[in-house]
Amino acid sequence: MSDAPKYQPLPPDLGEIYGPSAPRDPTRQIFVNRNLNMARIETVGFDMDYTLAPYHQHAMDALSIQMTVAKLIANKGYPQEIHEARLDHAFIIRGLAVDKETGNIFKMDTHRQVGRCYHGYQAVAPETRRELYAGTPIKLSSPRFAWVDTLFSLPEATLLAGIIEHWEGSGRTLPWSYRQLFDDIRESIDEAHRDNSMKAVITANVPTYIDRDPDLPPTLHKLRSAGKRVFLLTNSEWFYTDAVMRYLLDGALPFYKSWRNYFDYIVVSGRKPSFFIDTNPFIELDVNGNAIGEATTLERGKIYEGGNVRDFERMTGVAPDSVLYVGDHIYGDIVRSKKHSAWRTALIIQEMEDTLRLTHEHREGMRRVDALEEMAIRLDHDINYHLTLLKSLGRWADIPGGLTGPESRVIEAARERSKTELDVKRDLSRRTLDELEELESRIDRMFNPYWGRLFREGNERSLFGGQVGDYADVYTSRVSNFLSYSPVQYYRSPREVMPHERGY
Ligand code: IMP
Ligand code: MG
Repeated sequence: MSDAPKYQPLPPDLGEIYGPSAPRDPTRQIFVNRNLNMARIETVGFDMDYTLAPYHQHAMDALSIQMTVAKLIANKGYPQEIHEARLDHAFIIRGLAVDKETGNIFKMDTHRQVGRCYHGYQAVAPETRRELYAGTPIKLSSPRFAWVDTLFSLPEATLLAGIIEHWEGSGRTLPWSYRQLFDDIRESIDEAHRDNSMKAVITANVPTYIDRDPDLPPTLHKLRSAGKRVFLLTNSEWFYTDAVMRYLLDGALPFYKSWRNYFDYIVVSGRKPSFFIDTNPFIELDVNGNAIGEATTLERGKIYEGGNVRDFERMTGVAPDSVLYVGDHIYGDIVRSKKHSAWRTALIIQEMEDTLRLTHEHREGMRRVDALEEMAIRLDHDINYHLTLLKSLGRWADIPGGLTGPESRVIEAARERSKTELDVKRDLSRRTLDELEELESRIDRMFNPYWGRLFREGNERSLFGGQVGDYADVYTSRVSNFLSYSPVQYYRSPREVMPHERGY
């Protein structure tokens, strides 16, 4: 049998054929956790808020806080003084958890161990943190905890921390239990969403709150031109969806008369995650948002409310694994759809533009962190080697009358050499670890002075980072990033490397 390869091997340096890969703006890239072949995706669905519609976060937070404070005072008897609480809008990031029993806010790693932890704006001492949370992983489904899992929920944690800080920072006891305070805030924010007071302000001045991305209409058009069906599935009500979508799409491309023409199916008040779990019927609505009746088919040009994933698949005839759903809510859009359907998932993470810009700016520092980590591991090996060597040389020296004079001298010299080496390596190791700690916390502070990086906690992925890795097939900062990729793009995930496969 011939040993000749069954194919003609490429030259060792593949760069000779292909050249350097095209540089792309890193903030606009699509990142891949799991291979996704867009040629096989026949239907692409979009969530609206924070997905098709990116919000100006500061304006949204301010509005949400203003409405919540007004409701706390008017409906729950809170004092006017809560207006005086200093609210730091940069304090809360996605992925944190609130402990309603203690009022603490913390960040977890992917093993659900508590990392950084604050009470008001004060860091909780490590020993207190260990006492409270060490050992068992945090169960976020427990009523004790609330997870800040969408950008809509940043203000509730911002308010909790600010009010605690305001009272306790001036040496007073909070007049409410932490749980009561958090529940009152949660209820008031919930009401501001549900009674449409917030939406009335937004729809009266959409550009203040929503970012109109000029690349969005061509992105949707590109998918449609490639023969894909496109649908909208949002939890927002019809009146709000219509107002926001008009702003985003109407008048952008001459051959689409209305935003509704971009979509084959339009589903509002979708009640995700219930949409993926329960069996709510689809109700057809007229253009004024009035119910016409239960729908038995889904048709282009009509508007539906409610619904569920199984009926959607049956009525549209889509193959479940040929659907890509693009959303921003890690739990409601991504985790639930992944657990209850075969839909493929794309997660929009608005904050990634900043994250990626900072990563790029601090790339030298991050490379240095990697090199220092590598160095620390090698120094540990060397230190262990010398400790073992010294132990066994010591045993030789202890053999009573067992060594001749010259042998003892050789052993003694070897011990001296090893001791000197050990001192050198220990000193290097200490300096390596000091620099590593200093550099890591300096980089972390650049990302967020309180919480560090969104996707990391200590040496691990953050809980949020872990969930993104586990449930989002691809992730990116905004929907229009799809525009610079082919609609039949094969998104390939980088080869997964386990610790034992590194460094060969
Ligand atoms: P989607 O992201 O397009 O599915 O829609 C999100 C909808 O949920 C928006 O209409 C928000 O106003 C609404 N929403 C966000 N947070 C809350 C809440 O705490 N209570 C009630 N509705 C909310
Ligand atoms: Mg959303």
